[in-house]
Amino acid sequence: MPEDYDAIIVGSGSNGLAAAIHLQQKGLRTAVYEQASEPGGATRTEQLTLPGYQHDVGSAILPMGVASPFFRDLPLNNYGLKWIYPDIPYAHPLKDGTGVACYKDLDKTADQLGKDRDSYLKIFQPLVNNWDKIDKDLLGPLGIPENPIDFLKFGLKALPSAKMLVNHFFKNERSKIFFYGSAAHSTLPLTNLASASFGLVLTTMAHRYGWPFPEGGAKNFTNSLVSFYKSLGGELYLNVLVKHVEELPRAKAYLFDVTPKQLLKIKGTNFPSLYRKRMASYKYGAGVFKMDWALSEPIPFTSAECRRSGTVHIGFSCEEIEESEGHIHHKKMTDTPYVLVAQHSIFDPTRAPVGKHTAWAYCHVPNGSIKDFSQIIENQIERAAPGFKDTILARSTMNTVQLQQWNPNLIGGDINGGRQDITQLFTRPIISISPYSTPDPKIYICSSSTPPGGGVHGMCGYNAAKAVLKDHFNG
Ligand SMILES: Cc1cc2nc3c(=O)[nH]c(=O)nc-3n(C[C@H](O)[C@H](O)[C@H](O)COP(=O)(O)OP(=O)(O)OC[C@H]3O[C@@H](n4cnc5c(N)ncnc54)[C@H](O)[C@@H]3O)c2cc1C
Repeated sequence: MPEDYDAIIVGSGSNGLAAAIHLQQKGLRTAVYEQASEPGGATRTEQLTLPGYQHDVGSAILPMGVASPFFRDLPLNNYGLKWIYPDIPYAHPLKDGTGVACYKDLDKTADQLGKDRDSYLKIFQPLVNNWDKIDKDLLGPLGIPENPIDFLKFGLKALPSAKMLVNHFFKNERSKIFFYGSAAHSTLPLTNLASASFGLVLTTMAHRYGWPFPEGGAKNFTNSLVSFYKSLGGELYLNVLVKHVEELPRAKAYLFDVTPKQLLKIKGTNFPSLYRKRMASYKYGAGVFKMDWALSEPIPFTSAECRRSGTVHIGFSCEEIEESEGHIHHKKMTDTPYVLVAQHSIFDPTRAPVGKHTAWAYCHVPNGSIKDFSQIIENQIERAAPGFKDTILARSTMNTVQLQQWNPNLIGGDINGGRQDITQLFTRPIISISPYSTPDPKIYICSSSTPPGGGVHGMCGYNAAKAVLKDHFNG
């Protein structure tokens, strides 16, 4: 084991690596310890189906990789990262075979919405224009915002449920379904307060930055972070499952890229019982059932917009999406769930052998479910793309338990490190001015169980690193 460090990071997910990079950039001596044989946590790519097919096991489309106030300033393109921008960031197929596209161009997108054109612009124009005035506050812990007026304006739109927002702003079903598609990323019932916020942020990202993904797979985003980190002198140790703080070299601070349940199991921490109790009551969200396919040809979506999109949101009516996203929290599933699909190989030929294709998808399911939802998912895609099933050469499925075996942070298949409802959005893992700190002055938490939550943005890690610098290094 190496000698002493300033800080040790446990876990090499995008947040662990962001924390490590920021501390190393500030001149600290750091090391990252990862239990898996590959770095990246839920940002890794594997040959899950047939030889030559590259599948993103977890995260696949990384708008926050380019939009994150931390990641966007890193020189990752010098470390092997190449972003691929699909023609259309995302699209939504409708029952009649047409589709609505979220183009990068705001006006072109609004033009598809008929009577709702002006409402769409009224919602998104100010957000797209003023995003850089609110992004740092939105992607950090609760505090006094730098631009309170802009922040308040966003908050007024973001606080309602997605259902309230669409009913207030839109007249057409197609506009409502279209917004539901991005809001449903929240994994919350669309009738829940603040479920609108996810649709607002993700669609703003699409218009401002696009929804890109790394050439060759999400692993290449991780690889670029690791290469940059090492170029700064950082050290990464793989295949080390940390169970006790004393197994690690001595350091002033230990940052854990884990969720509360896991942190409480780590031995050698000094947490009072009240903190343990509060952490133990942290809520996890719904899980996902994940699928990947090797295909003989691209998914034959009827809608031309869907055929040109990196991401496709499937759900054929507002009721269908509402029901599917509501039921999972009562341990139930509908036969027509909301399905999220990503198709990389039509824009990135390195993902599959020549002329062949890949597809990636999941649907939300009750936390901990071990049921096989593959038929249900394939049926939903088939409705939007008749003939899809005939293109399947091989499939991979992962239920919530298999996902957690692959990455211990995915508790019960929850991909966001904990439920992201109004009670835990900014106050995760507990209500605190510095949610990254713990009562043990050496121990910090830097995973997506801290603000701003799930997604590959690294802001949880960056914010945790700032807390460490302030507490221990006069930062
Ligand atoms: C199926 C799926 C699809 C997703 N799709 C997207 C998407 O398209 N876009 C997007 O932005 N986000 C997506 N996400 C969410 C995103 O991947 C996560 O929010 C993000 O990875 C969180 O990063 P993290 O660093 O907090 O945790 P993780 O990435 O989970 O990393 C935690 C790391 O800690 C390690 N670890 C845990 N315990 C220990 C221990 N005791 N000792 C040593 N190491 C340990 C784990 O092995 C892991 O490597 C998806 C996630 C999943 C699972």
